[in-house]
Amino acid sequence: STKPVRIAVTGAAGQVSYALLYRIASGEMLGKDQPVILQLLELPNEKAQAALKGVMMELEDCAFPLLYGMEAHSDPAVAFKDTEYALLVGSRPRGPGMERTELLAANAQIFTAQGKALDAVASRNVKVLVVGNPANTNAWIAMQSAPSLPRENFTAMLRLDHNRALSQLAARMGKPVSLIKCLAVWGNHSSTMYPDYRFASMEGESVKDIINDDAWYKDVFLPTVAKRGAAIIEARGQSSAGSAATAVIDHMRDWVMGTQGRWVTMGVPSNGEYDIPKNVVFGYPVTCSGGKYTIVEGLKFDDEFSQDRIERTLAELISEQDAVKHLL
Ligand code: NDP
Repeated sequence: STKPVRIAVTGAAGQVSYALLYRIASGEMLGKDQPVILQLLELPNEKAQAALKGVMMELEDCAFPLLYGMEAHSDPAVAFKDTEYALLVGSRPRGPGMERTELLAANAQIFTAQGKALDAVASRNVKVLVVGNPANTNAWIAMQSAPSLPRENFTAMLRLDHNRALSQLAARMGKPVSLIKCLAVWGNHSSTMYPDYRFASMEGESVKDIINDDAWYKDVFLPTVAKRGAAIIEARGQSSAGSAATAVIDHMRDWVMGTQGRWVTMGVPSNGEYDIPKNVVFGYPVTCSGGKYTIVEGLKFDDEFSQDRIERTLAELISEQDAVKHLL
């Protein structure tokens, strides 16, 4: 039988994890023949640990054939031991009256500690996905704190933005999402990200030409995608969790199993592609194959609008880095 793999999940008693763990244990992330061991990390306080225990009881009650083991932890240096996948979901939410710099600093502390723990005890090939916000900067911090691990194994989640954009375009054209190819979302996982349909196609035709409505693109589509998280909080009274968990599954499954040439969006450390400074964790269109992602290169930024959008989202990322780099 196949050897089980160890998957660490942080913030394991939170909302997103509650929508995520059952799907990992049922084989949706790594396949229906891959057994898994879940190494779950939560804050050490009694309430978080009790909630985690409850989630584990439920997972147990599912009798998932692929779930070979489960562990509850409060110390990343133990939770990340030998882990081949690390899903860093937990992060410090913005409290009432909290300044952005305070939020960044609180998360810098968490992700420095977790990066160091990964460096010390995780599998040398660990694939890391940061979901906890500010996801790109948190991924950058973890990567900088783990110098012995491959840089390219640290990624941030932009897949929810990608999926949201796909759905909006498909709905506008009255076509299934599966027909849309070559969509890109650039930059930071925040309202400054740039969902870019200039290269997208549907059944061989340009999506931009099919829609043929620049005002809709700029005044309806872009703000709808950017404000979708807030719209869901308003409607549901809670932040999106099911769609975030789905995006985690999509991101990891595609990274591990490949995309067969399809473009997807991942936040990954730049090697200078598209003049993004090296190591900035930036949303890029990628293809995946053999457990590796490749940034799609050679796309043109020859219009002012796109150039301006890229500069804005990059400026935000640089300012986030500047706010925390003295803490590393
Ligand atoms: P959620 O599970 O709802 O969210 C977790 C993280 O994911 C947050 O940073 C959140 O960002 C982000 N996120 C949520 N929805 C989306 C989305 N739609 N797209 C992209 N990112 C999203 O938070 P909970 O408060 O329910 O759970 C967090 C858990 O983490 C708690 O149980 C807490 O105890 C734990 N925690 C664990 C730590 C650790 O393991 N060391 C450290 C800190 C917290 P946003 O805030 O912007 O919604």
